[in-house]
Amino acid sequence: MSKFDVILACGGSGSRCNLGYNKLLLDIGGMTLLQKALSLFYHEDIDKIIIAYNKDDLSVVSQYKDEHKKIVLCEGGTTRTQSIANALKYADSEYVIIHDGARAFLPKKCLEDGMRDAIAYGTSVLYTPSPDSLRQIKTENGAIISSFPVDRNAIIKIQTPQIFPTDELKQAYNLAAGSQYTDDATLYEYFIQKPVHLTLGSPANIKVTTPEDCKAITSGVLVGNGWDTHRLGEGRKLILGGIEVPHTKGLIAHSDGDVLIHAIMDALLSAMHERDIGVLFPDTDDKYKDISSVLLLKEVMKLVKSHSLKVRSVTAVIMAQKPKLSPYIPAIQKNLADIMELDEDSVSISATTTEKLGMAGREEGISVSSVAVLCDCV
Ligand code: MG
Repeated sequence: MSKFDVILACGGSGSRCNLGYNKLLLDIGGMTLLQKALSLFYHEDIDKIIIAYNKDDLSVVSQYKDEHKKIVLCEGGTTRTQSIANALKYADSEYVIIHDGARAFLPKKCLEDGMRDAIAYGTSVLYTPSPDSLRQIKTENGAIISSFPVDRNAIIKIQTPQIFPTDELKQAYNLAAGSQYTDDATLYEYFIQKPVHLTLGSPANIKVTTPEDCKAITSGVLVGNGWDTHRLGEGRKLILGGIEVPHTKGLIAHSDGDVLIHAIMDALLSAMHERDIGVLFPDTDDKYKDISSVLLLKEVMKLVKSHSLKVRSVTAVIMAQKPKLSPYIPAIQKNLADIMELDEDSVSISATTTEKLGMAGREEGISVSSVAVLCDCV
């Protein structure tokens, strides 16, 4: 007989997440929360994964059934207790692991610690200490009327998985006869009259419950880099980051030659997987002749918004032998932050000479390398 079956509690509607559909079907980078939760249990010591599903999600979970031979489907009930009771009919391994479908980030070590403890002690219930200070409250008509502090070291928070001998949990559910319990450890202790064994869980094992949780697990970070070089020549202004820097030479270009803004734009565009500025603003087009690069950067920022992205940070290194740029850096950073509508500390510009080596060192031109970090947590 295999040692473990899993019951994945997926019977809820996830209405507290305000998604308009079951939160377990939320896409988290190419897979749903439920697919991620299922993947936790593709483990050699696990025989079956019984999904206690909400009947509205039958068509989706039916597709998942074909993805792995371990998956068994069972229609959940109107309550969590009823869903587990239904699913228990399919469990016949020595132990049964009860897990919330919305806890898809369970570290593998916690699962294996729980399985090991269940074999050693009969049961295993995951817990975490509370990092928050705690108070006990007294309420009247739903409102808090008084509170007092309790020792947080005397309180723990209970998670799933919770692991029990299958026969004993079935017996407990038979005795419970439809009564409601918030978790299986409570029901087991009450009817089997044995204390459960506690196994240290992890703060990573979150139960996705609120719209904020959904946002946190679906936001991603995009990184782009950009590089530009322009030749220095007589009779041109030197413009860097939209600021005129006094110098005997300026940068030669179809536009105003703002090599710093050009590199930044390419960093932003590459993060968005868009084509570079040479494609977007071709130097064969007369409308870009001597144009201020500030206007082009504003166009790129419109594109960032149209992708529903936000710029987290922009950095750039200017490689120039002369002029000495350090006195102008604060003004350049502020100007760029204003143009991109960012906090000043989101823009970091530095300058370096190249020790008189290479094109920049010979004062033939100026190069800029830039990195942009964007996020979709708007
Ligand atoms: Mg350029």
